[in-house]
Amino acid sequence: MSAASAQGDAVPAGTVSGSIEPASQGLTLAGPALSGLALARGEVDRVAHLRADADWLKAAWTDPATRVIVVERGQALCELTDQHAALAFIAPPEAPDGVRFLLGVEADGLAHFGVAGPLPAQAGPDVRPAYLREAGPLLSDRDAGLLTHAVALANWHETFTHCPRCGSPTDPIASGHARKCPVDGSEHFPRVDPAMIVLVTDPADRALLARNAQWPERRVSILAGFVEAGESAEQAVAREVAEETGIAVRAVTYLGSQPWPMPQSLMLGFRAAAANTDINVDADEIAEANWYSRDELAAAIAAGTIRLPPPVSIAHRIIETWYGSDLPGSW
Ligand SMILES: [Zn+2]
Repeated sequence: MSAASAQGDAVPAGTVSGSIEPASQGLTLAGPALSGLALARGEVDRVAHLRADADWLKAAWTDPATRVIVVERGQALCELTDQHAALAFIAPPEAPDGVRFLLGVEADGLAHFGVAGPLPAQAGPDVRPAYLREAGPLLSDRDAGLLTHAVALANWHETFTHCPRCGSPTDPIASGHARKCPVDGSEHFPRVDPAMIVLVTDPADRALLARNAQWPERRVSILAGFVEAGESAEQAVAREVAEETGIAVRAVTYLGSQPWPMPQSLMLGFRAAAANTDINVDADEIAEANWYSRDELAAAIAAGTIRLPPPVSIAHRIIETWYGSDLPGSW
């Protein structure tokens, strides 16, 4: 069953309901699952079992073949051209002081570490500091996974420096994948904030796109918001869509996820079917929201009246799966 026919069948006219149908009831959207998301790639084994192995860690750090990525304020050195990016690794002796984390080991035994510290000197004409947002889509699967992992940990260590129980400075443990308080012994793990992002479609298979009040003119995307404490991701979808646009959703389907460590989100992608089409925006958060058919979307992009999120984002990919082909234009 196609996404379009599923929605047409599933949404009786005039029905307004905030309830969510479980997939087992057969009324959810049959949208395509997302694959190959730019920041959800990786080839390196994270070898969690080696994170506390002091002998192995020492041997790996003294192995001249070991590679290190340095991350400073979300940036790492990359060899970067318009079409291609590659991490500019350094050897352990060249690494600056800073929190060190074991990123993983390749199939051939090559170990990768990250260090949160000042970036080393740029070596090579195309080597420069780059953000994940910029380099991520151009990196290989291996390098995209390494940089996403390293940026997420570096961001966490940069901000999570003290114990939330007693206020003492904490120490990195588990090769940088946790921190421990030396006073009360409590252990703390990297914080990840789950956020849902959802493409809502109406019975005519039009997509709901909105402009956040904080964004520049013309920028639009699908709706997104953080999952609140004690709430499921599906409940967050229904709540945020209703709060921001007054639209009730009656079927929610999970599509896939992508880490977005800028600084610490995990984006959970969904599609949802609208039970009503009258938009009533929350003006504090949403400047405008509108339904777009595929033809209307293409025309608006061509006319320059709207711009869509960049290909690195899960939003872009979700819109693309609905649109049916590559999307022109992005911000
Ligand atoms: Zn403490």
